[in-house]
Amino acid sequence: MIGYVRNIITHSAVDGPGNRLVIFLQGCNFNCRYCHNPETIPRDWENSSFQMAVSDLVDEVGKYIDYLSGVTFSGGECTLQSAFLLACCRALKERGIHILIDSNGSASKETLLSLAAYADGFMIDLKAFSGHLHKVLTDAGNAHVLANILVLAQYGKLHEVRMVVVPDFADTRESITWLADQHLLHIPIKLIKYRAHGVTDRAKALVPPTDDEMQVLKAYAEKMGFHKVTVV
Ligand code: SF4
Repeated sequence: MIGYVRNIITHSAVDGPGNRLVIFLQGCNFNCRYCHNPETIPRDWENSSFQMAVSDLVDEVGKYIDYLSGVTFSGGECTLQSAFLLACCRALKERGIHILIDSNGSASKETLLSLAAYADGFMIDLKAFSGHLHKVLTDAGNAHVLANILVLAQYGKLHEVRMVVVPDFADTRESITWLADQHLLHIPIKLIKYRAHGVTDRAKALVPPTDDEMQVLKAYAEKMGFHKVTVV
């Protein structure tokens, strides 16, 4: 089976615990204003990425395995290539490798649960709680995202929820409140400061939060009872 890969980073300390090899699959079904990897969005996969067989990918991971804590699949939105992703997860899990999937949370429940049979966890982006704001930010609704967060938590596969903080566009406080209301206080949450570098003209209206605003949100999450709140 062949997949379309945009990039591979062999050592990352920010895509899950420990030292991870990160595989960025091509294609995304969102169009986020602040996307820092816009080159991964196009879905003409043949022209915007390189092809890899599952066995090639496993061999590539094998070169670094002695130095790795695990493998993280990212994108783009890696679940768009769900058959390839599933085959990779199965092959890597057969070798005892820790697997995380970084996702915008838009896949079907069935797709996520099939992947969850092999993946150790998912890092899900919650870009906005309001469906309207989510659409303004990403050109897509968030009904699946909210539902999938609950499903993955129910199956013990929700590794982390990530929220990019963009004042006036991302209602991060409401997202935090909703997560708390769903009794997900044990799930680590990561508050990511929107940064304007590397974004396209579509992000012109977005203003980064101040460090104080980030700390106020962190304090709010901790007051709500979240056990692990990270600000980056
Ligand atoms: S989900 Fe991620 S890769 Fe896709 S457009 Fe948004 S920020 Fe970019």
